[in-house]
Amino acid sequence: MLSIAIPEQQAQAALAAGLLACPGCSGPLSPWGYARLREVRMEAGVRQLTPARARCRCCKVTHVLAPAWLVPRRRDSAQVIGQALWLAACGYGHRRIARHLDRPASTVRGWLRTARTSAEDLRGCATRWSVSLDCEHGAVIPAACGLGDALEAIMLAVRAWVLRFGQDTLGPWERAVWLTGGLLYGCSPLPP
Ligand SMILES: [Zn+2]
Repeated sequence: MLSIAIPEQQAQAALAAGLLACPGCSGPLSPWGYARLREVRMEAGVRQLTPARARCRCCKVTHVLAPAWLVPRRRDSAQVIGQALWLAACGYGHRRIARHLDRPASTVRGWLRTARTSAEDLRGCATRWSVSLDCEHGAVIPAACGLGDALEAIMLAVRAWVLRFGQDTLGPWERAVWLTGGLLYGCSPLPP
């Protein structure tokens, strides 16, 4: 899944013009039909989406083009999952977060488990972004947990993005998905 930070119509036009690059080999992507319909649970209501697919002209790998509000392999939006991570870093347990967000406790526990397992990757990815955006930022002060450090690093990277490019068209958690390649996984392609 390739997270896209521009509106869907612009993304499709860029794809048709061969302007989107493969995250694996940087080769040009071509349109390759559509992926299955997805239903994403937002803060309020459900949003439906049929993402475009793209195929790399060089390595032949296909990718799903996803807007940044969609978290790969999850049914809830970036804003919802981001809030859960933030509350967890503030010391809330998964059951309390689940009640607050009106989601099943097992779902929230799954997000937190994945994010905690990936915390070091997320922190590393976000720190590389901050450095590449040339932002003068202080070091992350170690928190009691790896997840807290990862989230602070991610928010510093989001802030560095805004300082570099001005007001963001994406919300902070959406930009976090785009920067990290997934928010829960930290599998982003390297920063430019
Ligand atoms: Zn490729």
